[in-house]
Amino acid sequence: MKILVSACLLGHRCKYNGGDNYSETVAALAQRHQLLPVCPELAGGLSVPRHPCEIVRGTVMNDRGENVDGAFRRGAAICLQKALDEKIDLAILQSRSPSCGVKQIYDGTFSGTLIQGSGVFAQLLREHGIPAADVSDAEEALAERRKGHESQADQADKEI
Ligand code: SF4
Repeated sequence: MKILVSACLLGHRCKYNGGDNYSETVAALAQRHQLLPVCPELAGGLSVPRHPCEIVRGTVMNDRGENVDGAFRRGAAICLQKALDEKIDLAILQSRSPSCGVKQIYDGTFSGTLIQGSGVFAQLLREHGIPAADVSDAEEALAERRKGHESQADQADKEI
């Protein structure tokens, strides 16, 4: 399968604080799958390090009150285009990020409070019908996609 992944999960040091979110589970996927690492925030022109950001009433702001929404949405659009061009099967994304978060994000108060919701990039993928999974659900999401591929192949066999 062709899998888009948050670059920080593969050890790219693109987190706001210059760190990464290296995941052995995700790195091991490279043995059996083609991985396409992207970082929407860097793609949008943001630098490392950068101020932490959260989505405040629908607009991405940093903790100094500066509006960085344009950079987030530009980067998300660039990475979406990559996903479409490469016809990816699945995206596996870092948890809780204002770009990549799939299930939960911070609530916009910079107090560490989580709410249900998605980051800008994860939301854009969803709007374009591209399946995106939180890294904590990677195994289940892969199994689900595998099942989908198998049933498509069965259907194609029946039609021959
Ligand atoms: S935008 Fe996504 S890929 Fe980039 S550092 Fe944040 S979580 Fe990782």
